[in-house]
Amino acid sequence: MKDWNKKERKAPRAGRNTTAGRIAAAVLAALVLATGCQSKYQPIETGAAQTDGPLSVPDGKKSGDENRGGVIQTGDMNGPLGPLSAVGSTVSGESDVDLSVPGETGADSSASGEAGAGVSVSGVTGADSSASGEAGAGTSVSGETGADSSASGAAGAESSPAETQPETSAAPVFAASDETVYVTGDSVNVRASCDLSGDVIATLSRGASVKRTGYSEEWSRVIYQEKECYIASRYLSEETPETQAAVQPSAAEGEVRLNPNWQYAEFSKINSGAAVLYKAEGGSRRGITVCVNAGHGTKGGSSVKTLCHPDGTPKVTGGSTAAGATTATAVSAGMTFADGTAEPTVTLALALKLKTKLLAAGYDVLMIREGDDVQLDNIARTVIANNAANCHIALHWDSTANNKGAFYMSVPGNSSYRAMEPVKSHWQQHNALGESLIGGLKSVGVKIFSGGAMEMDLTQTSYSTVPSVDIELGDKASDHSDGTLETLADGLLAGVNAYFK
Ligand SMILES: [Zn+2]
Repeated sequence: MKDWNKKERKAPRAGRNTTAGRIAAAVLAALVLATGCQSKYQPIETGAAQTDGPLSVPDGKKSGDENRGGVIQTGDMNGPLGPLSAVGSTVSGESDVDLSVPGETGADSSASGEAGAGVSVSGVTGADSSASGEAGAGTSVSGETGADSSASGAAGAESSPAETQPETSAAPVFAASDETVYVTGDSVNVRASCDLSGDVIATLSRGASVKRTGYSEEWSRVIYQEKECYIASRYLSEETPETQAAVQPSAAEGEVRLNPNWQYAEFSKINSGAAVLYKAEGGSRRGITVCVNAGHGTKGGSSVKTLCHPDGTPKVTGGSTAAGATTATAVSAGMTFADGTAEPTVTLALALKLKTKLLAAGYDVLMIREGDDVQLDNIARTVIANNAANCHIALHWDSTANNKGAFYMSVPGNSSYRAMEPVKSHWQQHNALGESLIGGLKSVGVKIFSGGAMEMDLTQTSYSTVPSVDIELGDKASDHSDGTLETLADGLLAGVNAYFK
């Protein structure tokens, strides 16, 4: 799968062949070389909401947002799986001003252009060059001509956005626009006004869509929830994102706890437990993490209520919680099979088999629960998966008793539900993963219920920002012998393979 965001960059190379154009703009981190057009309206927007991921990433991924302004882009700043390890990385050469510098940690990352070491600042012509490096000790960036170049060397963990606020300058002039555009960063701010001190109204995930009514190089005027707001133009693209998530590198092995700063973490009520991340070994590693969520198994979970939707709106379908409710059981106890076995026992047995098969197939695996109890409610499970996995598969059996077969809970075709973030940006991914899993189960001969899908408004789906599915492997009357669970795990693996092929 390609990262749709890594498409060609097309920054201007103004003046490249002129004498003036040969004059390099050298910029040191934490300095702003105001050269005339330096504007407080020039956004260096990192959307700090989620910069504090605790997870390190082995290879600093370059991002390539559409660099309209010829902005040197730090790119995927925000996800905890983002490029936290640019330490020591250097990009050099006759660089365009559109170099992507994965300098989230800033330390020592540098990009140098023709000017060489990026020290000299004499003769800077750069109309709009700027650098902000709140973080980046040692970060240096030198653009070629300075035309519109800017760099941000925001610090990694714990950083605040590299938002410098130079004086002056007029508000941007917007060219009228009437188009749907998509967010290309992981956590991009929507602001009340077109400057970096504007109130942050919302933070959008990659792939979210908004209507753009005005465009300028730095800022786009958009309609968000029926209000006029502003988003940095370089985090918007006219290109429709692919429905599958860009695969991100995996985090470090070991316990993964809910980080209170993660998006939606504040909605969780039970979160003292930890998931555990396992890495595949050997040469066949795929760099894809699958979250395996053994449904249920949280002591006390059925006496706590959590918000069904992050925006507080009521559930649009029935289910274990009725339509119209705004809160639901944090984690229900699960059903009991006809033979007296508790559902959470069986979901765990399947989860452990699936884990073994996924690891052997080269996937890293994030296990939500590996014992009878984990103190993580459905929201905590979901938010952890959002931040430490590339997809989320919750294992369940249904509470009917007619051995009806397997199906997944698909995203309801309800317009208000599908208009709510993060459902809006991710529902196609959820359904695509569900279809792949059902296809995989079918391929190993598992009985499938109806068309393999049932629309359901679930807490899991309502908070998921990675492809995420609740799959029901059968019901109370279904066989759950060891052999059957092996087959189910084979089918799920086949479905994961199909999804990430
Ligand atoms: Zn269940």
